[in-house]
Amino acid sequence: MSLPGAPYLARQGADLQLDGCSLDALAREFGTPLYVYSQRAMLDAVAAYQRALAGRPHLLCYAMKANPSLAVLQTFVQAGCGFDIVSAGELERVLAAGGSASRVVFSGVGKTRAEMRRALQAGVRCFNVESQGELELLSQQAVAVGRTAQVSLRVNPDVDAGTHPYISTGLKDNKFGIAHDQAVASYRRAASLPGLQVAGIDCHIGSQITQVEPYLDALDRLLDLVEAVEAEGITIRHVDVGGGLGIQYGTEAPPQADELVTRLLQRIDARGHGHRELLMEPGRSLVGNAGVLLTEVLYLKPGASKNFCIVDAAMNDLMRPAMYQAWMAIEPCHRRDGAAPTWDVVGPVCESGDWLGRARELAVQPGDMLAVLSAGAYAMAMASNYNSRARAAEVMLVDGQPVLIRERERLEDLMASERLIPRP
Ligand SMILES: *Cc1c(COP(=O)(O)O)cnc(C)c1O
Repeated sequence: MSLPGAPYLARQGADLQLDGCSLDALAREFGTPLYVYSQRAMLDAVAAYQRALAGRPHLLCYAMKANPSLAVLQTFVQAGCGFDIVSAGELERVLAAGGSASRVVFSGVGKTRAEMRRALQAGVRCFNVESQGELELLSQQAVAVGRTAQVSLRVNPDVDAGTHPYISTGLKDNKFGIAHDQAVASYRRAASLPGLQVAGIDCHIGSQITQVEPYLDALDRLLDLVEAVEAEGITIRHVDVGGGLGIQYGTEAPPQADELVTRLLQRIDARGHGHRELLMEPGRSLVGNAGVLLTEVLYLKPGASKNFCIVDAAMNDLMRPAMYQAWMAIEPCHRRDGAAPTWDVVGPVCESGDWLGRARELAVQPGDMLAVLSAGAYAMAMASNYNSRARAAEVMLVDGQPVLIRERERLEDLMASERLIPRP
């Protein structure tokens, strides 16, 4: 198995390095738990999509819920990306990072009135609408603020993305999207509402997808609908195939982004839709392999049936193992010689579900630094303050130099918005 995160992540002798920087040294300089990202890896991931999209009308919208840190967004603004957002909070982040609302698509099943109004006032490019009720409410809000909302209907293509049930979103029993057989009627309704203008069609079939075929199936289902809707005299300008391309955590071998895009464009051309603008919403595949989580080994606790390696990062820092039973590679930052017993790598949180890796062979001692790999996506983004633990700091390697992009949270930050009950 190649090292997830290679070639940006590599061993130099015993030392694990990201962009040529020693992770052990970064952990000791900035403290742990610590997220470290390679900006170069993120830019190269964007470039792989853009290479294949070059010369075609397109917009690559980074699905920022994967990693919404301002410096990450700033990196993608500079790379020419738009953004896929799922809340008004994400819109404010895009604007704070220097992005333009005119390159933002707004997804999500539960947009509130206030979020719609804010997005209309900011001038987002398109709303990806997920239900009949949302169409009606969005039209009302648009009329109320004197704007026209550009809309795309998120259609549920009912294809199986072949991924974990929690991150599979394109089957008909999911909460997401408008059922395929109701889509034409919904477009008719959208076209008749005063506050809306039909702009596109979209889908998003799941996450950590490692095959091209589910995308091609979903694309075919979308293009069938485009043809049916346009037969009714309603124009659809863009086709948005969503995100979901997988990354390497262990032995997976997902297609490269340029291969995926090339196959999609071939199918679009073969069906005579080459003039349409193609939108994509990649999240994980732009950032996942660009980051690592560094943590210090606190204690070794050998036991009768299991050995525990207790580290200072926990499920509040990295929820993916606890939430999805996700497997993420764990590597010593500085490799030791000698025996490598089998450990469950666990955090300090008071939950048995608080583990980062199970049954890992590691030669470690207390005080050693470990790196959890492929931790650039859905990692810091899901961090919480459970157990009153302050959230980790983040460092971005920019041209090989570490830049602190998020200070470690302070305990006073955690209590800042709380109030004691006034005494009578
Ligand atoms: C989460 C999400 C994405 C990104 O998914 P990845 O698997 O991170 O690429 C794209 N579009 C929508 C609507 C999403 O909810």
